[in-house]
Amino acid sequence: MSVHKSLDLLALDLDGVLTLPGDPEWDQARQAWNLAVDQQPVAVATVASVRDVQAVVTAARRAGLRVAPQSTGHNASPMGALADTILLRLSQMRGVSVDPSRRVARVEGGAQWSDVTSAAARHGLAALAGSSGDVGVTGYTLGGGVSWLARSHGLAANHVLAFEVVTAYGEPRRVDQEHDPDLFWALRGGGGSFAVVTAIEFALFPISEVYAGALFFPLEQAREVLNAWARWTDTVPAEITSIGRVVRFPAVPDVPPHLAGKSYTVVEAATTLDPVAADDLLAPLRALGASHDTFATIPVERLDQLNMDPPAPTPIYGDGWLQTDLNAEAVETVVRAVGSGVDTPLLAVDLRHLGGALNSGRGGGAIDGLPGAFLGFAVGITARPEAIDRVRSAVTGIQDGLEPWRAPARYLNFVEQPSDARSFYDPLTWARLRAFKAAYDPDDLIRSNHPIPAAQA
Ligand SMILES: Cc1cc2nc3c(=O)[nH]c(=O)nc-3n(C[C@H](O)[C@H](O)[C@H](O)COP(=O)(O)OP(=O)(O)OC[C@H]3O[C@@H](n4cnc5c(N)ncnc54)[C@H](O)[C@@H]3O)c2cc1C
Repeated sequence: MSVHKSLDLLALDLDGVLTLPGDPEWDQARQAWNLAVDQQPVAVATVASVRDVQAVVTAARRAGLRVAPQSTGHNASPMGALADTILLRLSQMRGVSVDPSRRVARVEGGAQWSDVTSAAARHGLAALAGSSGDVGVTGYTLGGGVSWLARSHGLAANHVLAFEVVTAYGEPRRVDQEHDPDLFWALRGGGGSFAVVTAIEFALFPISEVYAGALFFPLEQAREVLNAWARWTDTVPAEITSIGRVVRFPAVPDVPPHLAGKSYTVVEAATTLDPVAADDLLAPLRALGASHDTFATIPVERLDQLNMDPPAPTPIYGDGWLQTDLNAEAVETVVRAVGSGVDTPLLAVDLRHLGGALNSGRGGGAIDGLPGAFLGFAVGITARPEAIDRVRSAVTGIQDGLEPWRAPARYLNFVEQPSDARSFYDPLTWARLRAFKAAYDPDDLIRSNHPIPAAQA
């Protein structure tokens, strides 16, 4: 059957909507959260049910097309233009239910973190959510998931109890420790190459409030503050997770007036310790003379404001890396790239402190922790296509400069450019992932942003 005919039949079969090039809604339907990405699939299926997902996968197989599942498009840029592919958008499947007695959430495949954190908070519970409320739960969890509670609780992927999926052959399945354990293992850190996830069940934690905030220092203090923060991270317990960063806030209406158009060195932290103990820990950083100090006890669901991520879809170019150390020389590299007096197109360079439960290997899946002491990310806004080259070269420049301290592995979720997924895993894990791809999707029907190629027979 021709592709055209298959898509016509699929459109009639869906509870959701199939959008085709030329339709008035086309540009909106194909738009990713990262507005710099120009997705040009053969069609966009905005699904409303598991039955829809099955119909899309089955129709794609018959028509010789591929399927690219997407929740929000936060990490759409590595995927390219999507030729011969149906973009399967789960953005309408955002249902969340919380079982407070079991402390478990079940969320649909297109849910965003703010859907979950608000539902869990109503029961005094917290999820291992991303720093930004509109990040998709599924993409984040399939890649690992580093939350503000990461050092005390580990990766989000390691607290998944079950996935509900539609396989590459269009079959709905519940996948857990007893059912398709290989697939269950691969989905916890192996990314989106194996199946379409229609729902996830994961553990919640009895945390309703945290002590959290940010210390803002002048940009001129970047060297002093980042060095002090880096040494401080060696001393703090796993109950405190922090980020050291240099930020140039754009002068746009979404940014609060006291920050808009200004640049700062910032230390953000969140902790489940009581405020008195936390204040003792923070004292040496405060002694450096912050110009604003926002630390307070806050409802845990408000952690999605702490990193001041863009509140809406934004055109960005960014990339991340893992770092083994942040010694004075490494800090100097950061300062030379984005410190005071430097003309840089970078909006932010973030260094997240890892370690704690992220080191301990909880045996939960394809990844069960992250190697390295810091997770770096450099990003710039690319509102005009001409800006991309300059931001790209600044992002590459800081990564190259930090090469002596970079860990050999990379973290899937923070890699936003096309790259060899082999670099996310040790050789044994890579071989197992390739074997499971061959078992579950040998024809490579499911297209992910960081593909795992099937092992050859
Ligand atoms: C502003 C911002 C803040 C962030 N904060 C954090 C953070 O705090 N911690 C962290 O670890 N990461 C963070 N990230 C990275 C984030 O985890 C990744 O971008 C992740 O891929 C986002 O998932 P998504 O579903 O929103 O994105 P999408 O681009 O929709 O999905 C990414 C990939 O996941 C897979 N996928 C998504 N949905 C499905 C599905 N239903 N079934 C099968 N596969 C699917 C696909 O392979 C897809 O290509 C952040 C990113 C941004 C831009």
